[in-house]
Amino acid sequence: MIAGDGIGPEVVESALEVLRAAGASLDLVHFEIGLGRWKRTGEAMDEDDLEEISGCDCILLGAITTPPDPNYRSVLLRLRRALDLYANIRPFQSHDLDFIIVRENTEGLYSGVEEVGVEESRTLRVITRRGSERIAEAACDLAARRRRLTIIHKSNVLRSDRLFLQTCREVAERRGILYEDMLVDAAAYNLVTNPQRFDVLVTTNLFGDILSDEAAGVIGSLGLCASANLGKSRALFEPIHGSAPDIAGKGIANPVGAIRSAAMMMRWLGELEAAGRMEEAVKKALSAGVRTPDLGGRCSTSEVTGAVTGYLMAEE
Ligand code: ATP
Ligand code: MG
Repeated sequence: MIAGDGIGPEVVESALEVLRAAGASLDLVHFEIGLGRWKRTGEAMDEDDLEEISGCDCILLGAITTPPDPNYRSVLLRLRRALDLYANIRPFQSHDLDFIIVRENTEGLYSGVEEVGVEESRTLRVITRRGSERIAEAACDLAARRRRLTIIHKSNVLRSDRLFLQTCREVAERRGILYEDMLVDAAAYNLVTNPQRFDVLVTTNLFGDILSDEAAGVIGSLGLCASANLGKSRALFEPIHGSAPDIAGKGIANPVGAIRSAAMMMRWLGELEAAGRMEEAVKKALSAGVRTPDLGGRCSTSEVTGAVTGYLMAEE
C-alpha cells in the first residue's frame, strides 16, 4: 500500500474500508513513498523499498505528486520500470458507456532517452516489436471476451507507429479478434462525439495518457476512474487521477476511482466474487445520488465510502 500525497491517503483509506467490508483478508505492508518523504529526506523512494515492494504480490497506490523539479525522479516511472508493468488497463464505465483503454506503459515517448539543450531538446520515441506485441496480446485478452479492438496510432506521420500498427494487426489476426484501426486525432474526436462506438482501445504511451484523461471527462470525472498496471507477475492498481492538491485535506475527494482500483486488484488476485460485489456497491451508491462535488453532488468522501460499505454489508 502506497497512500502517497495529496488526496492519495484519503481515497486509499476509503478503498481499505470497502475492502474490509467486502471481507478481503490481505497481508498489508504500508510504504511511505512520494513527495512528502522526498521533502523530509531528499529521497522519494529508495532501493530497499523497491526490493521490498518486489516481494509483494501487488500494490495499491493512491497518488504521488511529481514536482516540477529536475532532480526528482518520478516514483511511478521507476516502479513501472522496476516491476516491468507494461500494460496500463483503464476501464471507463458510466450508465451508458463501457470501454477500456489499453495503454503501452514502458516505451514510446516515455522512453527516457532524452537530450536536453538550451536551443534544442529531443525525446526519442521508441517503439519495439516486443513492446507492441505484448501490449497487443494484453488488449486481445480483453477483446476476446468483448466485442472488438480499435488500434489507435498516427502512422501517417510517425514512422515508428507503422511498426506498432503492423504488430497489433498481426496479433489480432492470429488471435481471431475483430479489429479496426484509427488515427489518434480521429479517436480524440470520436471519444467526445460518439464514445459508444468504442470497446477495447489499444495505443502507445503518450496517446494513451491523453486519451484516458479525455475519456475520464467523457465519463464525468477523473475521480471515477480506476487503472491497473500489469506486468508478467506483478501489478499495481491506482485511480487514474493525480494527487489533486487543490482539494487535498478537504474531505471531498471522490473515492470511487480508488475503490474501483481496489476491486480490479481483487479480480487480479482471483477474488472475483468480492470484486464484483464491490463494483456493484459502487454502482448502487452512484445511482442513489451519493456523489462528491466533482459529480455535482454534495457528499463527502466518507459519506460515499459509508454508502458503498453499507450496500456491501446489507447483502450479507
Ligand atoms: P498531479 O500533479 O498529482 O497529477 P494534478 O494537479 O494534475 O495533480 P489531478 O489529480 O490530475 O491534479 O486532478 C486534476 C483536477 O481534477 C483537479 O482539479 C482535481 O481537483 C480534480 N480531481 C482529481 N481527482 C479527483 C477526485 N478523486 N475527486 C475529485 N476531484 C478530483
Ligand atoms: Mg495530473
